[in-house]
Amino acid sequence: MERKDLAVIPAPPDAAERRHAKGVVVYPVESLPLFDAAFYQAARRGMKKVGETTVPPRDGRAFTVPAGHFFRIVCPEGSQVGDLNLWNARDLSERFFSGKTRALHGTHVSTGDRLWSTLPTLRPMATITHDTLAWYGWDQDGAGVHDVIGTRCDPYTNLLLTGAEYHHCCHSNLCRALAAERNIAPQEAEPHIHDVLNVFMCTGFTKDTHQYFMKASPARRGDFIELFAEIDLLAALSACPGGDCSAGHSSDEAACYPLLVEVFRPAAHTLATWNSPPASAYSRSHGAG
Ligand SMILES: [Zn+2]
Repeated sequence: MERKDLAVIPAPPDAAERRHAKGVVVYPVESLPLFDAAFYQAARRGMKKVGETTVPPRDGRAFTVPAGHFFRIVCPEGSQVGDLNLWNARDLSERFFSGKTRALHGTHVSTGDRLWSTLPTLRPMATITHDTLAWYGWDQDGAGVHDVIGTRCDPYTNLLLTGAEYHHCCHSNLCRALAAERNIAPQEAEPHIHDVLNVFMCTGFTKDTHQYFMKASPARRGDFIELFAEIDLLAALSACPGGDCSAGHSSDEAACYPLLVEVFRPAAHTLATWNSPPASAYSRSHGAG
């Protein structure tokens, strides 16, 4: 897709100068508390597995993680992308804020990054404490793993682009998972489904058109990402119908594998100095007095 408008809108005489303006990081994060690797390492040591959930291929499942517990999302069989939603287990209106997480940490997240909640709470819901794919970094195409760019595959966009209905997109899988967990209809669950963390997905933007692209996930059997629940979490995870997302999604064509969620409880004494983060202290006056 070419930017045809560029051809008909004449550039101003100082176009080059304007293009050379220096970029500044929009949200410098130096003022945030540092990732306390020693604390999380101590808590990881000796933690005990207290639960697990298997997400079948092309389907979704919900699970809960109490504050102060770890959870891992594992590829137990083959390379498989997962789409993750997070909510405050006590208040579904507080949920994962993919856009602000991206603005704060970058397009892809890994160990040390936090998953932030929506306004007005804006607090870390979870902290990434281990990532067996951290070696991937950025590849020659500018792609990375675990993105907060993509929204989730959904049946509406699929219908828009292909004219066909497909019912196992991540959006629908997440709807059914939340509906089953809360004993409500999928249509009632749907407004709570939000932009995801794309676990294991390898993505970037094309250099010429800046379009979102995906490529085969580098995840291998046994790879996992591990997170620490900073607040009581309700989560839903979809095993994307795109499988490793090397070719397509929103269909039954790709090879798909299950995902495994494991929940771990650290020894209580390792959390002695830890406090669940409070909601944002902003007054919410919005200047109205
Ligand atoms: Zn998907």
